[in-house]
Amino acid sequence: MLEIKNLHVDLEEEDKTILKGVNLTVEAGKVHAIMGPNGSGKSTLSYVLSGRDGYTVTEGNATLEGVDLLEMEPEERAAAGLFLAFQYPVEIPGVGNMTFLRTAMNAQRKARGEDEISAADFLKLVREKAKTLKIDADMLKRPVNVGFSGGEKKRNEILQMAMLEPKMCILDETDSGLDVDAMKLVSEGVNALRDAGRGFLVITHYQRLLDHIKPDVVHIMSDGRIIKTGGPDLALEVEKNGYADILSEVA
Ligand code: ADP
Ligand code: MG
Ligand code: MG
Repeated sequence: MLEIKNLHVDLEEEDKTILKGVNLTVEAGKVHAIMGPNGSGKSTLSYVLSGRDGYTVTEGNATLEGVDLLEMEPEERAAAGLFLAFQYPVEIPGVGNMTFLRTAMNAQRKARGEDEISAADFLKLVREKAKTLKIDADMLKRPVNVGFSGGEKKRNEILQMAMLEPKMCILDETDSGLDVDAMKLVSEGVNALRDAGRGFLVITHYQRLLDHIKPDVVHIMSDGRIIKTGGPDLALEVEKNGYADILSEVA
């Protein structure tokens, strides 16, 4: 589904290398988790894959279903089936949440040569998905994320994901700032989307999210590289001993 080979990335503004040769393959149907200390480049990886400005790829490549991602505009990547749930969801004053969702859905459909979703079908779908995430009618009507609590913003990201049904879902620290109940809702939302045709990259600082979203593979990232890969046990090891042991082992 997603294949990243020897990816090196510099910041455009500063003379600084953030990613120093990332190799990662996420197969369809699998959930891969990336853990790692703050500043190791996890968010940068998610930004570069989704097409945010400000980065220069100096080496390597990334493909989605064999198609070069890095050559595409962000909206083309989304239309191809890539989705990023942000670590820090952005507020968009003046744009209603439902308008935003419907516009995104229709843009995706258009890119695939499909007809727009009817107003009635959209309403039915958005209400159904919102209900399972405990997003009320008021939150659907308000401008995107404006005045939402941290947990509401994260649930709203999962609502977008549920509506768009992407092929490759990247979640960047979706668990940060969530209380136990919100974490359950978010995890259930993600688990409901698990499917043989869909891949997940779950970036998280803490093991506890992985109690709810059971990963197939766990990677540890440090200083712009994946330094260790293992099964779910690797996350438990990090929870128990921190990163120090793994870092010194690799060094
Ligand atoms: P993580 O998500 O693993 O915490 P990030 O990808 O956010 O790590 O950051 C990786 C490194 O790149 C950090 O050292 C961070 O300070 C630096 N960095 C990222 N973006 C910028 C930027 N726009 N300007 C300066 N430094 C940046
Ligand atoms: Mg961070
Ligand atoms: Mg981050």
